[in-house]
Amino acid sequence: MPRVVITGAAGFIGSHLSEALLDRGFSVVGIDNLLTGDLANIAHLRDRDFQFIRHDVTNYIDVDGPVDFVLHWASPASPIDYLELPIPTLKVGALGTHKALGLAKAKGAVFMIASTSEVYGDPLEHPQKETYWGNVNPIGPRGVYDEAKRFAEAMTVAYRRFHNLDTKIVRIFNTYGPRMRIRDGRAVPAFMSQALLNQDVTVFGDGSQTRSFCYISDLVDGLIRLMLSKENDPINIGNPQEMTIEQIARQIIAMTGSSSKIIYKPLPTDDPKVRQPDITRARTLLGWEPKVSLDEGLGRTIDYFRAKVLGS
Ligand code: UDP
Repeated sequence: MPRVVITGAAGFIGSHLSEALLDRGFSVVGIDNLLTGDLANIAHLRDRDFQFIRHDVTNYIDVDGPVDFVLHWASPASPIDYLELPIPTLKVGALGTHKALGLAKAKGAVFMIASTSEVYGDPLEHPQKETYWGNVNPIGPRGVYDEAKRFAEAMTVAYRRFHNLDTKIVRIFNTYGPRMRIRDGRAVPAFMSQALLNQDVTVFGDGSQTRSFCYISDLVDGLIRLMLSKENDPINIGNPQEMTIEQIARQIIAMTGSSSKIIYKPLPTDDPKVRQPDITRARTLLGWEPKVSLDEGLGRTIDYFRAKVLGS
């Protein structure tokens, strides 16, 4: 049984990734300090080949026995989280990546880092290809996340070049689905909880900024394909279907049958104006393609938030 260590296993993506790997016969060791993760996300994995270690991976990571893959997913990941947790965000991207790489090196494991579309910043190239170097403000409020992930990519490549480690870099674009935190501040959970409660839906700016939303099961499929591939260069994983934030707010209001109205709030500093992945590399090198339509994905996610928000 190949054995996988996942940092951030109790988070939104980490928990889905853990579950998908268990389903494919992997043995999984999940590590999380529960800063933004939640044990409820992994409670259903308890009776499976899943071991949980509560640990802050900015400190030395100790795992007994053989390890075949180290997947470094731990990090605060929403703009509100990194405004509230700037130093832990920088530390887990920098020190945590170093520790996770050290574990992979010691075990002779394949290493994969969860990078992000945020490495492109407020992009001047659209859609974003992996060859684009980005437009990031290092001292803005998002800089703590963007620069930590850029450092993490640089550190990952250094371990490949210098230690000959087999490394993978995935740049994850906006992803949504069950197990996002209701109050993590991101657009989809915010709009869903507001719409389900018939409260005002808070669109930031004039709502003309764009994002491209990928359903979690599609993302996880791409992650596992990359993890098992021979590719070492960065690969974007995301759904290229681009829309404005106002459009997705209206769609969520319609799909929840809500009486909510849209209200407009100030646009956060350095909020990217456009974002859309170019997924040519994922398509050609991994044979990956998102399959879940926005209607289907939003429907499944609304079911989850309805149960969370309304308790039914
Ligand atoms: N946004 C919004 N209302 C909210 C939360 C977010 O209009 O209550 C906007 C935000 O300004 C951004 C987009 O929705 O333009 C996506 O934000 P999110 O926090 O989901 O992720 P980002 O792509 O900015 O990292």
